[in-house]
Amino acid sequence: MNTNCDVLVTGAGPVGLTMASELSRYGLSVRIIDQNTQRTDKSKALVVWSRTLELLDRMGAELAQRFVSNGSKVRIARILSGREDIGHVDLTGIDSPYNFGLMIPQADTERLLEEHLATLGLNVERQVKLKEFQSEPDRVTCRLVRQDHSEETISASWLIGCDGAHSTVRHQLGMEFHGQTMPSDWVLADVHLSGVVGDPSITVFWHKEGMLALFPIQRTRYRVVADVGESSGPIGEGNRPAPSLEEVQQILDARGPGGIRASDPVWLSAFTINERKVADYRSGRIFLAGDAAHVHSPAGGQGMNTGMQDAYNLAWKLALVTRGLCKPEPLLSSYSAERSAVAHHVLEATGRATSMAVLKGGVKQSIRNHVASLMFGFAHVTQAVANALSELAVGYSNSPLTVQSASVHGEPEAGKRAPIRKDEPQVGSGNTPRFALFAKETSVLGSLLSRYPELVEASLREPYTEGGIWLVRPDGYVGLFTRHEAEVADYLNRLANK
Ligand SMILES: Cc1cc2nc3c(=O)[nH]c(=O)nc-3n(C[C@H](O)[C@H](O)[C@H](O)COP(=O)(O)OP(=O)(O)OC[C@H]3O[C@@H](n4cnc5c(N)ncnc54)[C@H](O)[C@@H]3O)c2cc1C
Repeated sequence: MNTNCDVLVTGAGPVGLTMASELSRYGLSVRIIDQNTQRTDKSKALVVWSRTLELLDRMGAELAQRFVSNGSKVRIARILSGREDIGHVDLTGIDSPYNFGLMIPQADTERLLEEHLATLGLNVERQVKLKEFQSEPDRVTCRLVRQDHSEETISASWLIGCDGAHSTVRHQLGMEFHGQTMPSDWVLADVHLSGVVGDPSITVFWHKEGMLALFPIQRTRYRVVADVGESSGPIGEGNRPAPSLEEVQQILDARGPGGIRASDPVWLSAFTINERKVADYRSGRIFLAGDAAHVHSPAGGQGMNTGMQDAYNLAWKLALVTRGLCKPEPLLSSYSAERSAVAHHVLEATGRATSMAVLKGGVKQSIRNHVASLMFGFAHVTQAVANALSELAVGYSNSPLTVQSASVHGEPEAGKRAPIRKDEPQVGSGNTPRFALFAKETSVLGSLLSRYPELVEASLREPYTEGGIWLVRPDGYVGLFTRHEAEVADYLNRLANK
């Protein structure tokens, strides 16, 4: 076993597995450990959204295709009150090759990611716990403990805490997990349902007693989620026992459209909602990602997707710095700036959606229903919701890496996701995280490409419109939009290690 490595990834949930895969793809020496004996067998995070699928596509080995063939597609999310349609969002029209949400249990997501990791020659070291670590100027020394109490000390250039909501790394860094626990109890049932009519869709029922949500998993298997009132005990996890199947049936009868029968439970559970995040995702050579850095309401199924996108964001930056191609700054500090802003937005949006869904009081509820059905009548509102749900709207407009030096007229702006064009390989696929230049051939740009062969793709791509120059980052976001060639050189000189 390598006691010196570039990166120690702690935690092999979906975020740690994505992180380790991306870092290995980019040629870093990585170890990934998990204290558990095996990966989860629970359905937990169910939806993989469009943007995450696009990013899985860049990882190679037809990973996105393997996800799609192991899951089922859902294109519609609707809100009903009884049988009355309050509004719906259709993902068919979004600008992505993956214009759907992929319903796939987290157990399968982790299996597919772990299989992918193995194709890169890396396996999860299980029953290995990160006990403590010491940060030094040029490395992090980490003490690992195995189930049989044997210990190992390793030295890593970087430590990444993907160790979930109760993160050891976050605790030892003494970082505060700012936020709150919502004062209501929730039940979750992974069950088989009969009597659900219509095409598979994510359906939320707003009922006077509370909300009920149905997520199709596979054929007759569904996730049922409902709020069941104020927490009785002290606010925190595990206050309420898991529901019985009868209790789930009662909720379906009371809040659903009628005629739905639940049977054959796969998993019954109860939870409370935490809305928390750290202020900074980095402390020197140590980073946090996923639930270790942010937790939020499951409304919209954004938690795991946001965490996996943390991993895509950090991996290429860390690879370029570790391989000596880029200076540490501003790349590494941009990780927290960019991803903390995204999590802040997700916390606000999912918190708002949850509060709206559990609103109590007849008058308030009828005003809510009326206003919501008015809003869903506007095409631009449903389009915005579709882009937010699918996470195509995620962007980094205020990042230190974003430079917009010319006004745009409908073209992709700096900080936004670069549109994916049919039959064009995605930026960032392959074994080196290279930027891509979308511009017309000139001698100045040609000489820039030969100056930075390891940082920028060798050939230019067709610009989105005449006269514009786009420098697209390895994670598919526009870093620079300009009309002046000299600014491309400025941008690269600021990052490059020469
Ligand atoms: C009941 C439930 C339902 C959910 N439903 C949804 C949903 O519908 N949609 C959604 O987006 N999200 C949902 N989530 C949240 C989702 O599961 C998480 O966002 C996701 O698992 C986060 O992934 P992660 O890799 O950051 O952390 P985790 O999946 O928590 O993985 C962390 C890993 O770190 C390991 N670890 C911890 N400490 C150490 C240590 N010291 N040393 C070694 N290993 C360590 C743990 O064993 C664990 O395997 C749900 C969660 C729960 C519990």
